[in-house]
Amino acid sequence: MEEKKVAVVGAGLVGSLLAVLLAKKGMQVDVFERRPDLRKAKAIGGRSINLALSNRGFKALSLAGFDQEIRDISIPMYGRKMHDLKGNLTYQAYGKDNEAIYSVSRGQLNQKLMNLADDFENVKYRFDHACEDIDLPSNKITFANGESKEKNHYSYDQIFGTDGAFSSVRGVLQKTPMFNYSQDYLPHGYKELNFPANPDGTHCMDKNCLHIWPRGEFMMIALPNLDGSFTVTLFFPMKGEVSFESIDTEEKVVDFFNSTFADAVPHMPTLVDDYFSNPTSTLVTIRCSPWNYEDKVMLLGDASHAIVPFYGQGMNSGLEDCSVFFEMYDEHKDDVNALFEAFSKQRVPDGNAIADLALYNYIEMRDLAGDKDFLLRKKIERK
Ligand code: FAD
Repeated sequence: MEEKKVAVVGAGLVGSLLAVLLAKKGMQVDVFERRPDLRKAKAIGGRSINLALSNRGFKALSLAGFDQEIRDISIPMYGRKMHDLKGNLTYQAYGKDNEAIYSVSRGQLNQKLMNLADDFENVKYRFDHACEDIDLPSNKITFANGESKEKNHYSYDQIFGTDGAFSSVRGVLQKTPMFNYSQDYLPHGYKELNFPANPDGTHCMDKNCLHIWPRGEFMMIALPNLDGSFTVTLFFPMKGEVSFESIDTEEKVVDFFNSTFADAVPHMPTLVDDYFSNPTSTLVTIRCSPWNYEDKVMLLGDASHAIVPFYGQGMNSGLEDCSVFFEMYDEHKDDVNALFEAFSKQRVPDGNAIADLALYNYIEMRDLAGDKDFLLRKKIERK
């Protein structure tokens, strides 16, 4: 594949890492991104502000020589701290030997990966390019360019679809024979809220753990940021008696938080503003197979396996797609068809497994994370 001209569609976390790794193999890599260059944007909008990065993700980043640099801008979380209704705290360590997952800013991680890719002469970014269609026989991609939506066309030897859960590249494969696809929404959605830093810049709670307020039908979590703030996420039913739909006035928000998350409220001076200004987003599981179309198109990251965030493994498993792809690359590099087929065959079951685990962990986190007998019961069930 070394001499090939390839396209990466979607410059998110997975696409940006993939671009670096393809460039290291000497390929001509054009990276297309629907949005403007986020390095020039004032604020980074979109999904979750920070993410939990685990060993799986670090292993992939290390292929780009980048793991330590990312560790340096991350905060280790050594366990999870549960807040009960009365504000009592329970702590569960993630491991016996100081194992941790790391809270990292999505924007910072994405920017660093883009800068790294830019250092390669054989990588070219094209922002404001939204993939609209692919003519599979010629592998010609049609993009809508910026606000004018002017159409541009480019042809490639191979196309990598890393354009996220609602992937346009996958949309093209969905119209081909024998392509399997499913999408399932949770009845719950999420909204991001915020605990600002203390006036002296320190964190208002222990920053070295992931905080959880498990409340049965729903939950809230908080991950630390480097600037002393926490990004807080409320996972909550979309509809029903107690839901985003029903908590719809300032008074109801204040009452609900005071009675449900009393120990969090003093840390939330902008609660009401945040609740009404921040979007309510949905949670979806997307599965498909195969992830490739012949030797022409390959899907990686959320484009091939979008999962709910409760196992903290969506990005990590997407980054792992990249490391596994390059582990298999040397064996098959002279036969792209064999490489794409083998990769899809190996990774589809992995994607399905992590999707199941993420759904399972939702029940554990919201219902049981505060239950001391839970681990014991799990042991008994296994026996
Ligand atoms: P994306 O990050 O979605 O990037 C896709 C890119 O493609 C974007 O830049 C987009 O603009 C671009 N694009 C889209 N369509 C087009 C098009 N037509 N043409 C060109 N470009 C296009 N994962 C973890 O590992 N740990 C966590 O703690 C974690 N927390 C999460 C919390 C929440 C609330 C959510 C929703 C997700 C969380 N995830 C987490 C999952 C993680 O966000 C995703 O798995 C990860 O972002 C996937 O990366 P990606 O590059 O595949 O896709």
